[in-house]
Amino acid sequence: MTNPFIVAGGAGFGGMMAHAEATDARREARRAQSEATELNARLDRLAMTCEALWTILREKLGLSEEDLVDRVVQIDLSDGKLDGKVSRSAVSCPKCGRTIGRRFPNCMYCGQAVMQDPFA
Ligand SMILES: [Zn+2]
Repeated sequence: MTNPFIVAGGAGFGGMMAHAEATDARREARRAQSEATELNARLDRLAMTCEALWTILREKLGLSEEDLVDRVVQIDLSDGKLDGKVSRSAVSCPKCGRTIGRRFPNCMYCGQAVMQDPFA
């Protein structure tokens, strides 16, 4: 049986759909690659800034690498797990007591301004 979407001399409807999907996939792959490149560049700048801050602190305050590593472990453990990341849980609104996300500047229930966690 012949596929009605495939006609002689061309790709037909099915072929055009496959071509459009492939074009979309290539476009999405380029966008993702571009985003990954940008994130890597930002990560490089952030790592350089952290290193600059660390070397200033080490020189000015006489801290050691061990001090830095100990503090990293302490911060990692602040959520109860030594896993290379910190999970920041929700907080309670100081006015109404409801649970709110750390990223919001105000309580979504009562509007109370909430102290922002700079690392959330
Ligand atoms: Zn509230």
